[in-house]
Amino acid sequence: MTDVIIIGAGMAGCSTALWCKRLDLPFTWLEQAPAIGGQLAHVYNPIPDYPGRPAADGAELRGHLQAQLAAEELSPSLCAAVVETDLAGHCVTLADGTVHRGRAVVLATGVERRRLGVPGEVELTGRGVGGSGRRDRDAYAGQAVAVVGGGDSACENALLLAETCRQVTLIHRRSTFRARPALLDAAMNHPRIRVLPDTRVKGLAGTERLEGLRLDGAAGEQVLPVTGLFVRIGYQPVTAMFHRQIRCDPDGYVQVDANQRTTLPGVYAVGDVCNPIYASLAVAAGQGMVAAKAALRELAAE
Ligand SMILES: Cc1cc2nc3c(=O)[nH]c(=O)nc-3n(C[C@H](O)[C@H](O)[C@H](O)COP(=O)(O)OP(=O)(O)OC[C@H]3O[C@@H](n4cnc5c(N)ncnc54)[C@H](O)[C@@H]3O)c2cc1C
Repeated sequence: MTDVIIIGAGMAGCSTALWCKRLDLPFTWLEQAPAIGGQLAHVYNPIPDYPGRPAADGAELRGHLQAQLAAEELSPSLCAAVVETDLAGHCVTLADGTVHRGRAVVLATGVERRRLGVPGEVELTGRGVGGSGRRDRDAYAGQAVAVVGGGDSACENALLLAETCRQVTLIHRRSTFRARPALLDAAMNHPRIRVLPDTRVKGLAGTERLEGLRLDGAAGEQVLPVTGLFVRIGYQPVTAMFHRQIRCDPDGYVQVDANQRTTLPGVYAVGDVCNPIYASLAVAAGQGMVAAKAALRELAAE
């Protein structure tokens, strides 16, 4: 039994933990990954907008965060995946069966990339599927690759990959794109980018590595030979485990009030898991502070 259980050690969970320590609020901190930082592990672009600490990439900011936690003698339990929650009872269960009970729970589980959900995708992840245009463009130099999506991220990845790849096919299931006009124009007019609208990926081919995509589009079914697939079709909140226990929006994002309170007493949510629109590091850090202070006030009043 502790005062606060924090699930997640991305920016939002780290901020919550730092504030709980500052407020002398005992807490148990659980993170499923082997390291802190959450999405920062996948940010290869510069981070120029985190006040006071611009960073060359996510790894650099994660290093600063890690050093700050170490100086405060704080560390979550790592490789501690919460697999079941009874939020009304402030109770969580880990994969190894350990049960933790608190007086309050802070949900900081963030978001994950949406997958296509087609045959072969999971099996070939890490073997041609699941890279980053910024990080991997040299690894795919001279090859034919595909990017799936219709937003800024899809166009950005296509343009980055086109710097080195022989051909980049940008596949989108609709006829219209959400990307900013400047990005879309650059992609549409790039000599090595081919755009395939109204086209769906039905499956992936390859056993040891990705060899191609099965497509269904205006020209009927076809197989597109590619060695790399970059899926950029957005993010989804990590709420499957508890979205029926608290109010979430239709996309699964947790709904909170100005004190980060969910619809269950003593249950708070912070960071991307409750930010469908304004997801950012600064918001995640700020909401961690709000939840810790709100929990302190409400636990003191019990
Ligand atoms: C490519 C990219 C570039 C970005 N660039 C910027 C930028 O320049 N500026 C900016 O402000 N923001 C940027 N962002 C957004 C920013 O990274 C996020 O807003 C922020 O990291 C969200 O932090 P979080 O703690 O809410 O969630 P996350 O970072 O997603 O952390 C959630 C954590 O919860 C853990 N978790 C999930 N489920 C469980 C479970 N069941 N049990 C235990 N642990 C669990 C996860 O493993 C993870 O560590 C960028 C994001 C991306 C992907």
